[in-house]
Amino acid sequence: MYDVIVIGAGLGGLMAAAKLAGAGLRVRVLDKKALPGGTSYLFRRGGYAFPMGPLSFGFPGRVRSFLAAVGVEEGLEFRRSGFEIRTPALDVVISRPLSELDSELKKNLALKLVRTAEHVLPGLSGAVEVMETATPLTYRDWGGRYEGSIAGWTWAARPSGALAGKVLVRTPVPGLLAAGAYAATELFLGGVPTALYTGSLAADIILEQ
Ligand SMILES: Cc1cc2nc3c(=O)[nH]c(=O)nc-3n(C[C@H](O)[C@H](O)[C@H](O)COP(=O)(O)OP(=O)(O)OC[C@H]3O[C@@H](n4cnc5c(N)ncnc54)[C@H](O)[C@@H]3O)c2cc1C
Repeated sequence: MYDVIVIGAGLGGLMAAAKLAGAGLRVRVLDKKALPGGTSYLFRRGGYAFPMGPLSFGFPGRVRSFLAAVGVEEGLEFRRSGFEIRTPALDVVISRPLSELDSELKKNLALKLVRTAEHVLPGLSGAVEVMETATPLTYRDWGGRYEGSIAGWTWAARPSGALAGKVLVRTPVPGLLAAGAYAATELFLGGVPTALYTGSLAADIILEQ
C-alpha cells in the first residue's frame, strides 16, 4: 500500500514524489506514458540527442537547491547555453540580458522599417542621422503609461481620419479634469500638440467657472 500516489511523472510530479519518498512516505508514481520526464523528455537516435521540451532553464541556483533537497547533487553540472534566432528578417542572439536584447530588437525593427520606407524614399537609410525607437515597454517603463499605451485609455490606430479622437478632458467626477496624453482617446493631433491642447482646454474650463 502507498501513502501517496502521484499521477504524472513530469518534473513537478517527480519532484513531489522524490521529496515525499525522502521524507519516508511510500510513494507510487503513475504515468500514462512509458517513460518519465513528461515534457522534459529527451530521446537519442543515430548518435543525436533530441530534446522534446526545455533546452535550458533560468535560476540555476534555485534549481540546484531543489535538486539537492532530494539528494541529486553528485555529478551535476550546469553549462551556460546560448540561443540565436536566425530568420531572413531577424538575426539576433537572444541569450543575454533582456535590456540588451530589447535595444537590439528595437534597432533591428527600426532599420527594417527604414529599409521598407526606402521603396518610396530611395536613399533614406543614408540620410538618417539620429534614430529613436520606442515600444509599449518604453512607454510603460519611462512614462509610467498604463499597459504601455502610447496615449489615451482606448488608443488604437484607426483609419478614421485625423480628427477622430475623442477628448476626455471632462470626467464624470465633479471637479476632476484630465489633461495630457490620457485626456484623449487618440493622439488626434500627435503627442505633443494633443497634450498641450488638452492641458489648455482643462485650464479654459477651470477659468470659465
Ligand atoms: C517545447 C517546450 C519547450 C520548453 N522549453 C522550456 C525551457 O527552455 N525552459 C523551461 O524552464 N521550461 C521549458 N518548457 C516548460 C517545461 O518543460 C515545463 O514547465 C515542465 O517540464 C512541466 O513539468 P510538469 O511536471 O508540470 O508537466 P509535464 O512535463 O507536462 O508532465 C506531465 C506528465 O503527466 C502525465 N499525465 C498527464 N495526464 C495523466 C493522466 N491522466 N494519467 C497519467 N499520467 C498523466 C503526462 O504523460 C506527463 O508525463 C518547455 C516546454 C515545452 C513543451
